[in-house]
Amino acid sequence: MRWMLIALCAGMSLAAFAQTAPAGGYVVGDAEFADAPSPQWRERTDRRAARNLANLQRAGALPSALGLAQTPVNDLQWPLRPVPGFDQFDYHGTKYFVDHDPRYPGFIQDYTCGTRTYDLANGYNHAGTDYYLWPFAWLMMDEGVVQVVAAAPGTIIEKDDGNFDRQCTFDGVSAANIVYIRQDDGLTAIYMHLRKGSLTTLPVGAHVAAGDYLGLVGSSGQSTGPHLHFELRDANGAVVDPRHGQCNAAPDRWAVFQPYEDPHIDTLSTHSAEPDQIVCGVVNGANVDDVPNYKSIFAPGDTLWVFASWRDQRNGEVTNFAILRPDGSAFAQWDFDLASQNLSSPFYSGTAFDWKYVLPAGAPVGTWQFKAVFEGQTYVRTFAVSAIDAGAAQHARTQVGANATRCRPLSGQKPPPGCP
Ligand SMILES: [Zn+2]
Repeated sequence: MRWMLIALCAGMSLAAFAQTAPAGGYVVGDAEFADAPSPQWRERTDRRAARNLANLQRAGALPSALGLAQTPVNDLQWPLRPVPGFDQFDYHGTKYFVDHDPRYPGFIQDYTCGTRTYDLANGYNHAGTDYYLWPFAWLMMDEGVVQVVAAAPGTIIEKDDGNFDRQCTFDGVSAANIVYIRQDDGLTAIYMHLRKGSLTTLPVGAHVAAGDYLGLVGSSGQSTGPHLHFELRDANGAVVDPRHGQCNAAPDRWAVFQPYEDPHIDTLSTHSAEPDQIVCGVVNGANVDDVPNYKSIFAPGDTLWVFASWRDQRNGEVTNFAILRPDGSAFAQWDFDLASQNLSSPFYSGTAFDWKYVLPAGAPVGTWQFKAVFEGQTYVRTFAVSAIDAGAAQHARTQVGANATRCRPLSGQKPPPGCP
């Protein structure tokens, strides 16, 4: 049957290839990269921000002389920025949107009337949008490669740093590192869960431009993984969802429209051994990190692991992979459909899978390509095959996360307990 399928497809201009089962994979579960501000902490922080704002208004220190709400502007800039030299295609997934259904618990409605949001039994309806680091979130956080930047010009009206930033549970009390900005358009933007010690040195009262550095993405406060919770409030404290949809009549406020589902490949990479992604940056009280086992220079005969990560991947969205020799001929070629993994959901906001190959003894030296075509876009990562294994030095990364929990839903198998 499979042979027939291949024979049929061989005559088509867009050749389809057999699926090669991944060696391992990872999908982001409901509980990952989630958050909930501790109620008392949030109340205290909001109060401080309101007091600072009142003081600044009294002092005439806000650009809007009287500090009154202005007409909201619809040009929010993207609030994250990778550091110079970051060489992957992207670095994030989008987890939860604002919950527009005031009832709780279990009554959820995002701006499209979908369910990419949540609420809690204590009456909390998710009030912001969550952007998480992906893949290898804890390592990216520790390397400080993604900055949080101001989405719009405004005045810092509250900031708090120094809080623990490897939180993975909701303990009811943890404080997040935060920056509150009273935007020049009258809205208040809240940037939450920033990395400890990373906040801007600008004081309360300082004015920032869109794109100005505020801190690094972290997991401080009640947060289950490194992400930015970006929240907007109007002058009366009501939540403003910057995404317009069937269940949110307010206008879209982003300068660049962000689709509800935004299927993209975030990264392609090559490795000496299977990458290990961790769920929490602390295990038994000790800091741990992801262990990607990156390697980009291989010798003939080496084992080659190739790894791809996606955001917003849905069953049926097929990725065409190829590993190409220096002369452009195909060493390997295969298709991947998330549906082949028989997971509990047809859609995940973040996914990653890896495949294992062995380079033959006669593998030609030169620049090879690991290539993927997904949703009409082509992604290429190059690696070298060299007669001398110069890649040995790249193994030096400490293997601290080797025993960390992992969720690897191998083909046809259920993931281990605690995994999605
Ligand atoms: Zn959030």
